[in-house]
Amino acid sequence: MTTQNSKVRLATTWFGGCAGCHMSFLDLDERLIDVLGLVDIVFGPVVDIKKFPDNVDVTLIEGAVANSDHVKEAREIRRKSKIVISFGDCAVTGNVPAMRNALKIDDVLTAVYAEGPGKSPPSGELLDIMPVLLPKVLPVHQVIPVDLYLPGCPPNPDRIFAAVAALLKGEPVTLPEEMRSFG
Ligand code: SF4
Repeated sequence: MTTQNSKVRLATTWFGGCAGCHMSFLDLDERLIDVLGLVDIVFGPVVDIKKFPDNVDVTLIEGAVANSDHVKEAREIRRKSKIVISFGDCAVTGNVPAMRNALKIDDVLTAVYAEGPGKSPPSGELLDIMPVLLPKVLPVHQVIPVDLYLPGCPPNPDRIFAAVAALLKGEPVTLPEEMRSFG
């Protein structure tokens, strides 16, 4: 991938996920040094930037789309990113967060916030400022077009490196079959 400044503008984010996919990214270990020599991380949990920037080359989205904020953020990311990657099984299929799809959303909220061990918020007032849960958790591609799917729970570092390295070289990402499995 070529850019005007030679460094690729890379963003990462997570929606309904456990951060495991980001942990796997950090498990690139010494290969991170090579990657960081070629990219500027312009948004994500490892940089303290609040607003998603313009002109992003590649964005990795971990996690499924579970609430109204995720929908808004996904649309903004799509508008501002050349390449969007569904990063991990939750983003690709809904995976663990989508297990709640078999339940009614009101039953979930009651069980967690009214009857759960913490009963928090105690009087329900925070429900007004929290993002609204979607009736069903969705994989990212059901909300915005996605350019690449990187399955795995989490995708192992070799798989992440293979995809990122190909993108950085401007090559098509064609992962071998053993790197396309779920779970
Ligand atoms: S795919 Fe697995 S590791 Fe990644 S966010 Fe989902 S549950 Fe966590």
